[in-house]
Amino acid sequence: MHISISDNCTGCGVCSTINPEVFEIRKAFAVPDHTKVSGNEESCMDAVFNCPVGAIHIDEF
Ligand code: SF4
Repeated sequence: MHISISDNCTGCGVCSTINPEVFEIRKAFAVPDHTKVSGNEESCMDAVFNCPVGAIHIDEF
């Protein structure tokens, strides 16, 4: 699973609240830590579905 964040991320922090291991907010922009995705796939999908602006994209599984 590879995650990317589009430019419309507002840095709201919803994703990092759902999945603090994978998503970190840096300079008001979410940055995924790909080394932590394995084992956290389900909460990554929760973050995708709960991002208010649809900025999280799963590029590959
Ligand atoms: S939930 Fe979406 S808009 Fe909010 S910080 Fe995460 S990627 Fe950005």
